[in-house]
Amino acid sequence: MSHPILTVEDVSKTYDGFKAISDLNFYLFEGELRTVIGPNGAGKSTFFDLITGRAKPDKGKIEFGFEPDSHDLTDLNEYEINRLGIGRKFQTPSVYVEHTVWDNLVLSLKGPRGVFASLFKRQSSTDRDRIADLLKLIRLDGKRDWKAGLLAHGEKQWLEIGMLLAQDSKVLLVDEPAAGMSDEETHRTGDLLISLAGKHSIIVIEHDMTFVKQIARDNPVTVLHQGHVLCEGKFEEVQSDPKVREVYLGRGKHGTR
Ligand code: ADP
Ligand code: MG
Repeated sequence: MSHPILTVEDVSKTYDGFKAISDLNFYLFEGELRTVIGPNGAGKSTFFDLITGRAKPDKGKIEFGFEPDSHDLTDLNEYEINRLGIGRKFQTPSVYVEHTVWDNLVLSLKGPRGVFASLFKRQSSTDRDRIADLLKLIRLDGKRDWKAGLLAHGEKQWLEIGMLLAQDSKVLLVDEPAAGMSDEETHRTGDLLISLAGKHSIIVIEHDMTFVKQIARDNPVTVLHQGHVLCEGKFEEVQSDPKVREVYLGRGKHGTR
């Protein structure tokens, strides 16, 4: 088997004596689309905090990339980790509401430019082509001149995914993208993520089982419980696992939709 692009080994994180993440082992392979599920409080968002440097593990190893260019992420800050190519989408969309859709993507392009340089400098034709392609991909080409604040909730989420792509993120960490979306928006989001797999390595945290089923297909699903991997496998295997049913799927609210 090839070497993982992201390795998380024996990682723990305690908050006020509470083990949010407990001896966690997790391996993501290049191009993979992985879904992580688990009940509220299972440690899913904390898991992303640890990968992105927003929080530091008490112990354990988090490594990104391949030899000879691999990095120990526990030594780096949030900004450095992001620059390496790990992009995160938070649960609530965070776009620049006063800027246009187009400018939001310009502002995310990788490169040594500040806000002023980005917006007032003429973009190179390569940058413009790239943004135009991204706009099509996230289905916002008809709204490129809209202020991002005027977009529907689902559209903001797609814009934010587009911003991660504009940043050249190799690994995309996407936290509950379907939250607050209509069924149609959710389905489109699933199609978008599926189309990005292969070119990007993606971890999606999600509660919505219809959505998980759509994107998981033959891809592995990891179930987190009490900060630890409870089980890992294909969607159907995970869904029928009695341990999972007990802690998660059987709990009503998040188990069905
Ligand atoms: P999930 O995303 O699976 O719902 P979280 O990772 O958000 O779970 O939270 C796991 C546990 O860790 C929760 O009990 C939460 O209160 C705790 N926790 C997470 N982040 C912090 C923090 N910054 N300070 C204190 N407790 C936290
Ligand atoms: Mg969460």
